[in-house]
Amino acid sequence: MDPPPVYISSSGEEDDNNIKCPICCLDISFLTLEERSDHVLECVESPKKFVYKSLKKTRAAAPKVKNAPRPKKEKPEIPAVKILKFSGLDIAVDAFCYRFNPEISHYFLSHFHSDHYGGLCKSWNHGTIYCSKLTKILAVTKLKVNPDIIVALDYEMEYSIANGLKVICVDANHCPGSQIFLFKTAIKEETTLHCGDFRVNLNMLSHPLLQCKVYRCYLDTTYLDPVYSFPDQTQVIQTTARYIKSLHDPETHKAVKIQRRITDFFLPPRNIHYPFLIVVGTYTIGKERLAVEIARSLGTKMYASAEKLQILKHMHESETSWEFLKDLLSSNPFECQVHLVSLNKFADLVSYFDQFSSKFEKIIGIKPTGWTYRSTKSSKWIRDAKDDNEILKTIVGTKEEITVKNLEAQFKTSNLAQVYSVPYSEHSSFRELAYFMGCLDIEKVIPTVNLHNMAYLERWIGCIQSFEKMDIAKF
Ligand SMILES: [Zn+2]
Ligand SMILES: [Zn+2]
Repeated sequence: MDPPPVYISSSGEEDDNNIKCPICCLDISFLTLEERSDHVLECVESPKKFVYKSLKKTRAAAPKVKNAPRPKKEKPEIPAVKILKFSGLDIAVDAFCYRFNPEISHYFLSHFHSDHYGGLCKSWNHGTIYCSKLTKILAVTKLKVNPDIIVALDYEMEYSIANGLKVICVDANHCPGSQIFLFKTAIKEETTLHCGDFRVNLNMLSHPLLQCKVYRCYLDTTYLDPVYSFPDQTQVIQTTARYIKSLHDPETHKAVKIQRRITDFFLPPRNIHYPFLIVVGTYTIGKERLAVEIARSLGTKMYASAEKLQILKHMHESETSWEFLKDLLSSNPFECQVHLVSLNKFADLVSYFDQFSSKFEKIIGIKPTGWTYRSTKSSKWIRDAKDDNEILKTIVGTKEEITVKNLEAQFKTSNLAQVYSVPYSEHSSFRELAYFMGCLDIEKVIPTVNLHNMAYLERWIGCIQSFEKMDIAKF
């Protein structure tokens, strides 16, 4: 049997012409490795948008029929998986783009990503919305939702909703402001845990509030497949920050420094080393911690566009865990060695760099990717394993790590813009999901993602739930 997978991004082999996106199931074999990774990343963040984009790429546009009357499409009903039923009350989670349901007047919003808040707008008035303080601020400022209908829930506090239903929120470790919801009623057997998008960490596994018996657990099954493995977030952040800092050691710096461009021949030679400009890719919200750690390790401030700075300001004003951001941010890009930029700027980092070339040596892009398609060879051992239990045992027992070598291998001397892809996922890996199901006392797991593959998800849930008791110390 081959050793368990390690994080390397290399081109696929054997099965390379039959690769499907785990989210939208589209055939993406025709895309380059980089494009596949981008596709899946965007699909994870906002599924609908990207499915459309990918389809456009593969099929010719349908001929437009002029003046055809457009039938007003009625919105679909709220899917069953988004409705949580309790004896006294039914509630809905992340269900804002559906037909009005007179039975439901309490709506929970797990976090501020478009595939979850979709449908929310100024005129939305189906009931009361419950979410974190930060998510509320974003819903009000970005979507103009009426603040009077949103109840902000603090972390780790118990709130009464109605008819005996209570809720406690725990940090989902997904994006800032994301929460998982623990619902309780007077009936013990109704205890329900709803995990919207989440990334399992040690804090969650050992959280005192989650040590109760959970009868139903709605699970973010985005990566519930053993091929999805990636290292621990903190380990990735620390290794990346350490590596970026090491690039500035005098000796390394000289080696990394390159002739900036042909026209530089005509400029007077510089006799001091200019720092590198580090740009970290991000979305509206999410992936900030990577940029923060790099800025801290370099002892520099962090710049972002006015719009993003406003969001970061909301973050440090509403969440104590982000309070430190206040002293880290700056609106002057020239005094900041770390910039948070939208991921779509990565297509042309050289142009971005041009504005700052008087202050910086070259530009280094850090691209957080969810999961990078690796050589199918590295997952060959999974196909060769004799049964699911053997696969699970190997994965549970093997902690994956990113090394400085993984980053170094991506270095290209000749590039003015050097991009590093780092496996920074905000969803749980297969291994983390296994520990979550194995360490918490969960009776029934209800998948909420990749439902088209239900039989496959249930196969793994069954395997994990019948597995020996997992040791949290080995997580
Ligand atoms: Zn999300
Ligand atoms: Zn999502």
